[in-house]
Amino acid sequence: MGGYGSGRKFSCPKTTVEDCLKVDANMFAYRKGFKPGLIEGTVRWTRGDMERGSCGYYAVLGGDRSSIEFLYNTLRFTVSLSWYRPGYGGRRYFFMCPRCRRRMRTLFFKGNSLACRVCHDLTYESCNQYEPLGGLYGSGISWREEREAWRMMRRIGSRRPRGRPRKPRPEDQ
Ligand SMILES: [Zn+2]
Repeated sequence: MGGYGSGRKFSCPKTTVEDCLKVDANMFAYRKGFKPGLIEGTVRWTRGDMERGSCGYYAVLGGDRSSIEFLYNTLRFTVSLSWYRPGYGGRRYFFMCPRCRRRMRTLFFKGNSLACRVCHDLTYESCNQYEPLGGLYGSGISWREEREAWRMMRRIGSRRPRGRPRKPRPEDQ
């Protein structure tokens, strides 16, 4: 009992990826040009001019054991990184989700935990409202997620309420 789930919005049972702060495994590796070594810094999430949050990180890249440590609020998360060599060279990094151990390119901070989209049960749908593609670009979502989001929007968009004629949009004329 207690307050479990009390943080959820009444009208929207699921949290969207937009509500969470995201980290991308490759965002750290790129900074180092995929060379082995240590990197540290701070990730800042912004929306418009507002800072939504920040977290410090300390990553060890290279060798067989790559890992990254996040300092979020007063919490510390250590996440393993794995990588492969794509055909065009270089390395592509993945996080090992701390909860399910799946290889994921992105992880999300939700409340006081860090896990993948599946573990957090995140959705791209924000209730009745869909972000235009421009909004997704602005939020730093990867092309792959963006394609998924597009697919989702198209699917929802085709489900029109019965008996409601399709209005021509002004830009169609
Ligand atoms: Zn997971």
